[in-house]
Amino acid sequence: MAKSSTPNTSAHTAKSKTLFLDRDGTIIVDKNYMYKIEDLEIIPEALEALKKFAQTGEYNFVFISNQSGIGRDYFTEEQYWEFQKELYRKLEAEGIVFDGSYFCPHTSEDNCSCRKPKPGMVEQARRELGIPEESASYFVGDKGDDIKCGKAAGCITVRIKSDQYQDEKEVTADHTVKDLLQFYYELYPDAETTRELKRKEQE
Ligand SMILES: [Mg+2]
Ligand SMILES: [Zn+2]
Repeated sequence: MAKSSTPNTSAHTAKSKTLFLDRDGTIIVDKNYMYKIEDLEIIPEALEALKKFAQTGEYNFVFISNQSGIGRDYFTEEQYWEFQKELYRKLEAEGIVFDGSYFCPHTSEDNCSCRKPKPGMVEQARRELGIPEESASYFVGDKGDDIKCGKAAGCITVRIKSDQYQDEKEVTADHTVKDLLQFYYELYPDAETTRELKRKEQE
């Protein structure tokens, strides 16, 4: 079973759509086995996109993250939580509140049911957060295992291009974008037009 946190469990009402989000390399800069607060750096385009998604009022936000650094004893679960709390604090300061955060602490050798590419964490999140399986859901990540997990869970998949992982040919996502903001504008092209107009006005 994956570990989870649902910060807003009281009277939680699931919204109609869900963004299942990989954390490292998708929302924050991936610096490999991160647990030190000073390494926490939110990707600016991801932050802007999350703000825009939050403003629509239609999305649940759920982190789905492999954290084998715990299973490998590179850091403890407590250190993971300290880091995660700081991330939540930074996001909430921008008006972005996550509905849940699920992480798999195991290594691939543990052969658990939660580690991506398996869909266990998404299934658990849906159960615990009351998100119907048939509701619109997107899985966003920078690695082939993210896309495989999203597909196995029946989500629309979104690949964030990465210098680190180049298995795009091996696993094809429904959308391939450079960052979450580009995906937002694919879903809401009118917003892109508005942004272009504003930019021209300012010139
Ligand atoms: Mg990643
Ligand atoms: Zn696991």
